[in-house]
Amino acid sequence: MSEERSVFSKIVSGEIPATLLADTERVIAFPDIAPQAPVHILIVPKTEEYHNVVELAAGDPDLLAEVIAVAKSLAEEHTGGEFRLVFNTGASAGQTVFHVHAHLLGGALAEGTLAGA
Ligand code: AMP
Repeated sequence: MSEERSVFSKIVSGEIPATLLADTERVIAFPDIAPQAPVHILIVPKTEEYHNVVELAAGDPDLLAEVIAVAKSLAEEHTGGEFRLVFNTGASAGQTVFHVHAHLLGGALAEGTLAGA
């Protein structure tokens, strides 16, 4: 557990507002505040026990599967069913919030970027 609660835990508890696009027993999803694609949704386990996807896969593979199932369902609703799923893992890979989350990216991605490669 981190000493300080993550921004995503504060969204889970309602202290920070977000438009919830999915809310299951263990997972929420909401639009990224700084979208990098026409559709950019964050899918976040409610627990902050896992800092990244490697920890989540080792500690609770069923919860990781639920994150992916929620991504599939949101993609059917928002991107025509096709999507990119990104888990930044580590600061040098761009991770800024150390509460595991998936980026669901869809729509016409920009060319010349990793997301559009
Ligand atoms: P990462 O860089 O992979 O850790 O992703 C963290 C993401 O959280 C970034 O894309 C931020 O834009 C996003 N983010 C941070 N605060 C908020 C917020 N309050 N609501 C929605 N997205 C946020």
